[in-house]
Amino acid sequence: MGSRIIQKIGVYRTISIVEAVKDAGIIGAGGAGFPTHVKLEAEVETVIANGAECEPLLSTDVHLMTERADDVVAGLKMAGEATNASRLIIALKRKYKEAIAALEKAIGDDDIELYLMDNYYPAGDEVEMVHAVTGKIVPEGGIPLDVGIVVSNVNTLLNVYMAETEDQPVTSRWITVAGELHDPYIAEVPVGIKAGELLNLAGLATEDPTLISGGPMTGNIVDFEHGITKTCGALIALPPDNTTAVRKRRTPQVEYRRGQSTCDQCFECTIVCPRNHVGHDLYPHKLMRNLFIAPKYSKADLTSVYLCCECGLCDMYACPLDLSPRDVIVQLRGELQEAGIDNPHNRAEPQEHPEKEFRKVNADRLLTRIGLKKYDLHDFPLRQITTNEVSIALDQHVGTPSEPIVEEGQRVNKGDLIADIPQGALGSKVHASIDGTITKINDSRIEITAEED
Ligand code: SF4
Ligand code: SF4
Repeated sequence: MGSRIIQKIGVYRTISIVEAVKDAGIIGAGGAGFPTHVKLEAEVETVIANGAECEPLLSTDVHLMTERADDVVAGLKMAGEATNASRLIIALKRKYKEAIAALEKAIGDDDIELYLMDNYYPAGDEVEMVHAVTGKIVPEGGIPLDVGIVVSNVNTLLNVYMAETEDQPVTSRWITVAGELHDPYIAEVPVGIKAGELLNLAGLATEDPTLISGGPMTGNIVDFEHGITKTCGALIALPPDNTTAVRKRRTPQVEYRRGQSTCDQCFECTIVCPRNHVGHDLYPHKLMRNLFIAPKYSKADLTSVYLCCECGLCDMYACPLDLSPRDVIVQLRGELQEAGIDNPHNRAEPQEHPEKEFRKVNADRLLTRIGLKKYDLHDFPLRQITTNEVSIALDQHVGTPSEPIVEEGQRVNKGDLIADIPQGALGSKVHASIDGTITKINDSRIEITAEED
């Protein structure tokens, strides 16, 4: 692909990689879904490849780093070139021995550092990772770019490599299919393949399962018709009485009422809070107190809800009374937004909590506490998967949903552009993930069905 030179703040640099990434519809594969071309338009000092596999139970990033180490390293170098970064780092857990060996071989004499992390949650959270790897603290309400850093998931970097070298758009993603199943597995699946199809291949071993898309801590409940998105690293099927399943089925509205009657101000939620660890002004126990115990409060006293990253440690791990400060925060944040109250917190140099290291939550202990340890296979078998039917979301990224550019009945090939970024908006392109005919289009999805052989 040819290069084009632009001038940005007096510095000439190539933007061919950024264009390739935009055309390929690459978004953050780690879960956030931020359009990658926007990240790579920035000029930064450091790019960190995030291989920490933040959510417990997932096993896809470690597989990619082991089996596609050369391509992940090449993708990181391209991201470094696009952003003019002088420092490239791959951060992953020290327990990933095979991946470390493969990456060391792929790096060779290149100037790329490996940073080995302990097995804690949320090691892959961007703010946490930036602090662990560089010692810098992202400002309150900020992002890594504010301290000159881009963090990019290893699956995203693999996509960057495929876009730049093969002109290949994002039509698939790697996923862990786990839980109460006869044959759990990992696989590269077409974007939009339905959850039910992936579970049928694994063989459900429970009736009336609770299905979670995206990881046990931050994922959401979905149904069998759910089309897998570019950001979905896992599909987990749990028995309805499993601890995590029960917890996930509660709603923020119910949690709000439960918190009102029960919180005993034990402080455990704040002890584990990763935003509190980096000195952000977030104290979930104080929010619970202000909201439910203090005789009077104003909504303006509760604005620290904007600093929560919804990691879920306060509710799924910490609270001895099984309350959910996270859900209370989500509910409250919606109320503040409706009332037109913005985030006023923006301290640029918060200080790390002196007990941060001791307060980290071990990922194995977390898995045990949330009732998922028995599903942690470490080495999931690999499967090859194809499908005849996909349902592709138009809003799987941060920003404005993509606009369909195809019509029902139209024939498309895998890789064809089917929805584009609205003019002037933050967004991402969407491509057909299989050959077939467009069978349905609505505001949120495009469905494609392959012809019978
Ligand atoms: S951990 Fe639970 S009971 Fe303790 S302060 Fe937090 S919300 Fe209240
Ligand atoms: S979900 Fe809870 S522990 Fe996590 S950042 Fe928010 S308040 Fe802190």
